[in-house]
Amino acid sequence: MVNNLSADVIIIGGSFAGLSAALALARSGRSVAVFDNDDACNKSSEKAYNILTNDGLSPQEIKSKAIKNVMNYKSASFYTKTVSRIAEGDPLSIETVDGATYSSKAALLCTGMADIIPDIPGFADCWGKSIIHCPYCHAYERQARHVSMFGHTEEDIVLAGLLKTWNKDVTLLTNGHPVLAEQHELLQKQQITIKTQSISALCHNDGQLRAVAFDDGTSFEVKDIFVNPAAVQRSSIGESAGCELLENQLIKIDDFHRTTVTGVYAAGDCCTSFRTISIAIASGTKAGIFIHQDLHKMHLKKLLSRK
Ligand SMILES: Cc1cc2nc3c(=O)[nH]c(=O)nc-3n(C[C@H](O)[C@H](O)[C@H](O)COP(=O)(O)OP(=O)(O)OC[C@H]3O[C@@H](n4cnc5c(N)ncnc54)[C@H](O)[C@@H]3O)c2cc1C
Repeated sequence: MVNNLSADVIIIGGSFAGLSAALALARSGRSVAVFDNDDACNKSSEKAYNILTNDGLSPQEIKSKAIKNVMNYKSASFYTKTVSRIAEGDPLSIETVDGATYSSKAALLCTGMADIIPDIPGFADCWGKSIIHCPYCHAYERQARHVSMFGHTEEDIVLAGLLKTWNKDVTLLTNGHPVLAEQHELLQKQQITIKTQSISALCHNDGQLRAVAFDDGTSFEVKDIFVNPAAVQRSSIGESAGCELLENQLIKIDDFHRTTVTGVYAAGDCCTSFRTISIAIASGTKAGIFIHQDLHKMHLKKLLSRK
């Protein structure tokens, strides 16, 4: 199937970063088409926090408002579709899973990251509801109650200590991993309880945690667990198009949000290790402005080459 749509810029991923870039581009008079398959990383969260003017709204409410903002501009369009391929060229060719093809002068990847959820029964059901990735987004609402930190790495141990900012009672759940003597001492000095048993399941009601069940038959009552999981690219289209990834799995970009493939840019979580909504929004704004400027430079080059 061939579609005649051609836009100055096609944005793949219409969440916080993508819609923010679309706004900057539409306000610069660029035609911009956003493709999104509605699978943002925080979709399972009831509310999102630490966002000026939108603090405590649901991710879906914020997204709906953002789509409305962008669609106020005539040169912007939004499609609920999955992009399957970006093919290099001038113009670039963008394919969607239904076989349609679109062309654009530039493509912006705002496809986000997918968190790797531990394979423990109940973990995925509680993800985003009572298992939380970031204390700055969700710890304030959980103050004055017992919380746990899941993990065993040096970073996880530091995070367990950081949770004391909000909670008096903190337990580290290492899920079968030992804790070094020095780390043990540090945790004890912060009055953090340590449980090293392997976890067999998480008991919950509709994603709200009740208890952790251990392999040794014991259990532990808990309402909230913090975790800092590893993540991978949500979509492989950037890598398939030839965009280089960094060791931490993020798309490599320069200071102007250009990837290693000409005409392809990236913004938001897919290329930023600091994962919060306001930073994704800022990243999208920057990318939108830089793309507009690059397109203008390309126009100037063409003018100069004309005799
Ligand atoms: C559980 C959880 C809770 C969070 N809570 C908060 C919070 O309270 N406050 C806060 O500031 N931050 C929070 N965050 C972090 C925040 O959600 C992210 O930083 C932010 O969503 C990143 O925005 P993004 O636009 O880069 O990516 P995402 O929001 O992940 O969006 C990526 C978009 O790309 C689309 N997409 C991917 N591939 C394709 C494709 N091939 N074709 C079409 N569309 C595609 C997806 O459907 C998705 O809509 C939370 C994160 C998680 C995991």
